[in-house]
Amino acid sequence: MKHNLKIYNTLTGKKDLLKPMHGKNINLFVCGVTVFDFPHIGHARTYVFFDSYVKYLRSLGFKVFYLQNITNIDDKIIQRAREKRVPPKDLALAFEKEYLNAMKILKVNSVSKYARATNYIKEIINQVQILEKKGFAYLIENDGYYFNIAKFKNYGKLANRTVSEAEDGVSRIDYSGKKINRGDFCLWKFKQEENEPSWKSPFGQGRPGWHIEDTAISEKFFGAQYDMHGGGRDLIFPHHEAEVSQMEAISGKRPLVKYWLHTGFLTIGGQKMSKSLGNFTTISDFLRRYTPEQLRFLMVKNLWHSPLDYTESIMVEIKISLEKIEEFLRKITEIKSQKLKVKKPAHSSTGVAGKNNLDKLLKNSEINFYKHLDEDFNTPKAFAVMFDLIKSTNKLLEKNQISSKQAEKIYKFFETINKVFDIIDFKKTKKQSIASDIKELLELREKYRKEQNWQASDEIRIKIAQQGYIVKDTPSGPLLEKI
Ligand SMILES: [Zn+2]
Repeated sequence: MKHNLKIYNTLTGKKDLLKPMHGKNINLFVCGVTVFDFPHIGHARTYVFFDSYVKYLRSLGFKVFYLQNITNIDDKIIQRAREKRVPPKDLALAFEKEYLNAMKILKVNSVSKYARATNYIKEIINQVQILEKKGFAYLIENDGYYFNIAKFKNYGKLANRTVSEAEDGVSRIDYSGKKINRGDFCLWKFKQEENEPSWKSPFGQGRPGWHIEDTAISEKFFGAQYDMHGGGRDLIFPHHEAEVSQMEAISGKRPLVKYWLHTGFLTIGGQKMSKSLGNFTTISDFLRRYTPEQLRFLMVKNLWHSPLDYTESIMVEIKISLEKIEEFLRKITEIKSQKLKVKKPAHSSTGVAGKNNLDKLLKNSEINFYKHLDEDFNTPKAFAVMFDLIKSTNKLLEKNQISSKQAEKIYKFFETINKVFDIIDFKKTKKQSIASDIKELLELREKYRKEQNWQASDEIRIKIAQQGYIVKDTPSGPLLEKI
C-alpha cells in the first residue's frame, strides 16, 4: 500500500506531509536525559513514542539515523554530586547506566547513537567561537559568554514568543544581572568553584551551557540542517528556541530543522509529577507493579502530542486490553497449529472454516490500521481498528469458522504490529502450545510407567518440572500442577 505520512509539526502548527530532505533518509535528533537522577515515567512517554515511531518509519523503508544526546554536564549534576559528596563525573555515569538499563528493559532499542555531551567539548567551543566572531555572543567578565537574543531576528519563531517574553525560561546557569536581555542564555560558563568539572578553551577555563551541547552534537552528525528534532513539550522553550537561534545564527541557513515533534505532558491523577507532591514515579518503581509491555501500551495508547494522565483505573483498563489480545492470540495460535497435527483430517471439525468474510475484514483492518498511523501516528484510532478486528474474529472463532491459513495471517498481522509497538508478550500467547508439549511428555511418561521403566519415567518428570509443572499421580490418572 502507498503511504503518505503526515505528522504534527510544532514549527508550522499543523500536520505536515513527511518529506525528508534526502530521499528516504531521515536524520532525527531527540533530546536525551540529564543524568542526575533516576529516569521517570515522563521520560518513558517521550522515548517509547519515538521508539515506536522510528520503528514504524523503518518498517516503511525509511533509513532513520536516530541520534540522542546525554547531558552529562549540568548544574543539576554538580549540585546533586555536591549533596552526595561524590565526583560529578561518577554521579553522571551512574545515572546514565540507570537510564540505558531502563531503556533496555522497555525495549527502547531504536537509537542509532547515544552521544555524551562531554565527548563534544571541541565542537562546542568551536560553535561559541563562531557566535562570538559573528557578533551574537558577548562576554560578561568573570561569568561567561552569552547569546544575545535581540541580535537574532527570528528569535521566538518556534515557541511563538518575542524577545521581551523570553525571561521566563531562564535556568540557573543562565542567571546573571549583567545580561543585555533577560532571555539571553549562557553558551560558556567560566569555572566558578574549585571542584567543578571544567575544560580549557581559548576564552578561559569553563563548561558549556545546556543548549549549545545539542547543536554541537547535531551539527557534528547531521550538519547545519536536518529533518527532525524531538523531545518533551516542556523543551520547546527556551531549549529548542535557543537551539534554533544558535545554529541558524552560526550557519546562516534556515530552518535548522524541518519537523519539530513534541510529546504531550504526562500527569499523574491530573497533577504534575514532582518530588514535592510525592507522586514522582521512576521507571523502576513502575515496573515493580507492571510489565514493560503494560508501560509501553500506556505510553502509546493516547495521541502522542496529547496530554496523558496516568491513573490506577487506566492501568486496570490496560491490563484488561492486553489480556484480551493475548487470550485472542492464544486461540489463534491453537488454530494456526492445527495444520501441523496430522491426527485429524482437515475436513472433519473445520469443514466450514475459511468460508467467511475474514480475509476481506483482515485486509480492511490492515489498510485502516496503517492509514491511521500514517495520519499523524494516530495510535488511538489504529488500536481501535485492532480491537474491532479481535471482536469480529472472536465471533467467528466461537463458530469454529476460521481456517489455519487465516489464523496464520492474523497472527502475522499482530506480529507486525508488535514490531512497532512491543506491547504484546508473545510468550504468553504460546501457553497452549507449551501445554501441548507437556501433554506429550506426560503421555510418554505414562507409557514408560506401564512398561515399569521407572528411570525413564522419572527423567521425564524432571523435564516437565523444568517447564514449570509438578506431576501428581492420582487414581484417575496424572495431574499437572503449576510450580
Ligand atoms: Zn536537548
